[in-house]
Amino acid sequence: MAQYIIPPPPQPALHVHDGGHDGVHGEGTLFPVRRVYCIGQNYAEHTIEMGGDPDKTPPFFFQKNPDNVNTSGRFPYPPQSDDVHFEIEMVVALMRGGRDIVVGDALDYVYGYGIGLDMTRRDLQSLAKKSGRPWEIGKAFEASAPMGALHPVSAVGHLNSGRIALSVNGVIRQQGDLNQMIWKVPEIIAYLSRYYDIAEGDVIMTGTPAGVGAIQQGDALVGEIENLGALAVKVV
Ligand code: MN
Repeated sequence: MAQYIIPPPPQPALHVHDGGHDGVHGEGTLFPVRRVYCIGQNYAEHTIEMGGDPDKTPPFFFQKNPDNVNTSGRFPYPPQSDDVHFEIEMVVALMRGGRDIVVGDALDYVYGYGIGLDMTRRDLQSLAKKSGRPWEIGKAFEASAPMGALHPVSAVGHLNSGRIALSVNGVIRQQGDLNQMIWKVPEIIAYLSRYYDIAEGDVIMTGTPAGVGAIQQGDALVGEIENLGALAVKVV
């Protein structure tokens, strides 16, 4: 039997908030992460603050690396940037895969929901945009996807409205409602499945409301989504 030359990398995973425990202290069950899809400019006011046109269709996506998923509660300030931004987002975790999924069936593919931060090296992203280059350098870097525990659909149902907010050092900086998403969760899943073989283990970051801004070392970020609790991340 063939052997690995080096040890295979660890499997990225999210904690599951499953009632008996809070999912963040090494107990309970884990959700293995396969891919991390992110939709861009999915709340109209944020689209405008990024210089985009909220009426422009269709949606667009980028990816973070699965090993960028960060459940440590700490975000190390990354190198090569002086303008790192927070973006609070709802995370959707898929328990089934497929192609050409229709909007009406798409929620059947969802395992659960969580809170995530799409940490962004905004200066590098802006440079990439201006040059017509890929966004990875601004989006897919070490620890750039802090995520909290997943809440299964069996516990919280499907979330299509509810407050989403982020505070920095106790001051609210981002605030919106999940019902302000331009592309709704079923539409996002259906759209992605036309371009990719989506699969169990895939997670989707569903976009951020207005108010994104820069962080400093020492900042205490707290993301909140109604029915999903809170995600606290310290910038170190
Ligand atoms: Mn984002």
